[in-house]
Amino acid sequence: MTEWPGGHRYAATLSFDFDAEEVWIGENPAHASAPGILSQGAYGPRVGVPLILNLLERTGIRGTFYVSGKDAIRHPDSVRNIIAAGHEVAHHGHSHTSPTALRRTEEELELSLGLETLRSLGAEVVGYRSPSWEFTEHTLDLLVAAGFEYSSNLLDHILPYRHASHDLVEVPVSWLLDDAPHFWFANDTWEKTIRSTREVLEVWLPEIDGIAALGGHVMLTAHPMISGRPSRLAMLETVIGHLADTGAWIATTREVADYERENGPLSLTIGDNR
Ligand SMILES: [Zn+2]
Repeated sequence: MTEWPGGHRYAATLSFDFDAEEVWIGENPAHASAPGILSQGAYGPRVGVPLILNLLERTGIRGTFYVSGKDAIRHPDSVRNIIAAGHEVAHHGHSHTSPTALRRTEEELELSLGLETLRSLGAEVVGYRSPSWEFTEHTLDLLVAAGFEYSSNLLDHILPYRHASHDLVEVPVSWLLDDAPHFWFANDTWEKTIRSTREVLEVWLPEIDGIAALGGHVMLTAHPMISGRPSRLAMLETVIGHLADTGAWIATTREVADYERENGPLSLTIGDNR
């Protein structure tokens, strides 16, 4: 069974995809001249991030923020505040473009420009989360060549693991524990119902309990423009309380990846008490 640090029965990471204006431009380049649409993203750094930083400080948690280079250029003080508060900052593309839409040289340039931008703001960047949680056949090669230590993109486990072909730890994600599938709303999604925080907690908490019972790792993915709304901050606080009450080791993605690197391969507790 998995042995997590300090005798904790499972692990959890609160990750935040910073996604300000750039995610909307990535959705559709025409949005670059649509201030109303872009303002949905601007809510993140203007309101969501300060409130999230306050919540994390009050609860004594360090999280991981995935930031695209162009959003960091627009909101440098927001990124500096995240770093100053002791959180991890990691790479989320330079523009918010899926690598699958890029040629190899373009993908390489996205990685180097994003790294340069985040480092210029003082971030020590070792992790990569693609804007689409998607890879190309070149991505792992490019990540290793650029010195990344972990990726947080694939959806194939509830434990961190080492890529077989590359010296890179994968810290998996899931749509279920992402706020966007439950709450994402835009001017082209009028048919969609915005879920209540109660409904989302009904989805999240049993999944967290299930992962806990298996000794796995909970990767929660939230977006400041989505979960930085007041009602959803209260939801996040409920989740944090639940993680603490049920014995989670709450750590940054980097810490989880480092733990795998030093102690892996990790395995689940599958229905026995050995
Ligand atoms: Zn994103």
